[in-house]
Amino acid sequence: MDIVRTPQGLYKTNCYILKENGYALIIDPGFHGHRIMREIGEAKPVGIILTHGHADHICAVDALVEHYHIPVYMHPMDDELLRVKRRMPSGYKERFTSPYIALEEGPLQIGPFSLNVWEVPGHSAGSVCIGYQHILFTGDTLFKGTIGKVNTYNGNPVAMKATLEKIKTFNPAYVVYPGHGTSTTLGHELATNPHLVSHE
Ligand SMILES: [Zn+2]
Repeated sequence: MDIVRTPQGLYKTNCYILKENGYALIIDPGFHGHRIMREIGEAKPVGIILTHGHADHICAVDALVEHYHIPVYMHPMDDELLRVKRRMPSGYKERFTSPYIALEEGPLQIGPFSLNVWEVPGHSAGSVCIGYQHILFTGDTLFKGTIGKVNTYNGNPVAMKATLEKIKTFNPAYVVYPGHGTSTTLGHELATNPHLVSHE
């Protein structure tokens, strides 16, 4: 198992490429399709999975689908993000047009990759966390020391509160790979992140 992290673009969004037995899975291809292709190298990509539908996480989806003819997975609650008109910094695409397979909560197998998906609305309505082995990809829901914004187009502070309670029930041994910034562990966040520390 091998994980490549390539922070990309203006927002330094983390694109992760998982590799297992010669296959690759792409998480959140944010910006430079050609850079992602270079990181994939000789591996055979089997899919693209999105933690949510924000533009800085999806920018290279169409280029990668065109090149590799692989399926895309996204939670359908973020579908509307692909249809609203947004003003984007130059170089960003606000949407992708490739069809996608609707994510739902539960186990998910993509090629050799055994994943688990949790619905974690709050930062966006269709945000998900993705578990893979001992790793939890949290998108923009949970960062090292903080959480994602909820004042977004389809964000919701009440939903985020429930999501944080849900995350508190996850295995604290998970290594957290967020959508921006460096990795951490869930145990460390449960003990130190002001949004997760219990105050009673
Ligand atoms: Zn986001």
